[in-house]
Amino acid sequence: MARAALRALTCASLLAVSVAWAADDRPLAERLLAEELRTRGAWQRLAHLTDRIGPRLSGSAGERAAVQWAAETLTADGFSVRREPVTVPHWVRGEEQAEVIAPAHRLVVTALGGSVGTPPHGVEAEVVVADGLDDLERLGESVQGRIVLFNRAMTNDDSPAAFRAYRDAATQRTRGPSAAARKGAVAVLVRSLGTLSARLPHTGATRYDADAPQVPAAAITAEDADLLARLVASGTLPRVRLRLGCRTLEDVPSANVVADLVGGERPDEVVLIAAHLDSWDLGTGAHDDGAGVAMVMESLRLLKGLGRPPRRTIRAVLYANEENGLAGARAYAAAHAGELTRHVAALETDSGAFVPLGFRAWVGPGGVERLGEMVQALAGLGATRITPATEVGADIGPLKPAGVPLLGLDVDGRQYFHWHHTPADTLDKVDPELLAKDAVVLATMAWMLAEAPEPLPRPSPPPPSPSPSPAAAPALPR
Ligand SMILES: [Zn+2]
Repeated sequence: MARAALRALTCASLLAVSVAWAADDRPLAERLLAEELRTRGAWQRLAHLTDRIGPRLSGSAGERAAVQWAAETLTADGFSVRREPVTVPHWVRGEEQAEVIAPAHRLVVTALGGSVGTPPHGVEAEVVVADGLDDLERLGESVQGRIVLFNRAMTNDDSPAAFRAYRDAATQRTRGPSAAARKGAVAVLVRSLGTLSARLPHTGATRYDADAPQVPAAAITAEDADLLARLVASGTLPRVRLRLGCRTLEDVPSANVVADLVGGERPDEVVLIAAHLDSWDLGTGAHDDGAGVAMVMESLRLLKGLGRPPRRTIRAVLYANEENGLAGARAYAAAHAGELTRHVAALETDSGAFVPLGFRAWVGPGGVERLGEMVQALAGLGATRITPATEVGADIGPLKPAGVPLLGLDVDGRQYFHWHHTPADTLDKVDPELLAKDAVVLATMAWMLAEAPEPLPRPSPPPPSPSPSPAAAPALPR
């Protein structure tokens, strides 16, 4: 068959849902999975987003293209789509280079998002090593005029411990640069937060404290961090030259893309399903979070195909700027503040496309038991685990003060941090069948929550910040 004809057929088959399928009396998850495996709609969306649009860092041309594509695709699927304004940071990477002077070693390096650049000729200094943020104090005066390497490893790759290990080690990336600068460091290197030994650099956001000098900050690979640590341990501090061309430009306008499958009985009550449209710039954000975007868009399409509206509205939100600012998450919570008491649940998927396990959940008393009964409908997909959690998802985190029940799609994340924030987070790492299953798990849960006679019990909102309550702390961007 001619390629153009094949393409036309594929597009048509995505839009058309056969009457036989819509009238099918098999259990919902089974019907949705059969349709998804037939059409591969989530995979087609992900392939377009990653291969044809590419990296989508806030403020970039790729991000703008992604917003336009998502809005047009959801419109073509028959939804009324809004682009809700968000102002996002615009940080650009530029050139990056790092080397040990003697013995000569080229290091594999990538700037941390938000970092300032170095002078054009770079920064050159001896390196001292801290085993994570907590170990900085031990270095005392030796930090003065030197480059600090934060070398805490992210060792535990057992899901969901991988996510805990990431959160614990990530403080050296988010807060290390300011902590070291206060003690006189001239630059900061952090060991990449990852679980695969493939000499991959993992980027991610850092945050400068207002009261600390801003020093250049970059991630190096785990292998290169080990090399520097061995050189330091051998007795001579290695000299490293670091050159970063990154800089922060003016903020730019962007948008959250919002589409509703309008409820038939209680249209003002909302079940929100969410992922983030932006990605880091090194790879194409296939697992993080292109997969989530594809699951959310496909959930809406699959559920529309059932041929009748859900009782409550199911709303897809594709957030802007999750990776380096959470501006989209805050903008949504602010713009919809008056409706949040009628948001009956918010589901986020931002852990990649892997074997579905169930959901992490922040719900009121009795909610975990209710969910435990509901997920029996997902037994065929193996997604029956409900894990109580306070940090469920970064983008839905700002809905907490309104007491919106929060759910995060839980997957077997043992490989997520192999690729997370690296140049290797590309489409080939995603298994089409697992992506299809994840999309169906998300769609089925959204449908059940939208149909439930009674909404989930609402959790008590955390005390208002600046309380140190862990429930009030923003979730770490994934
Ligand atoms: Zn993410």
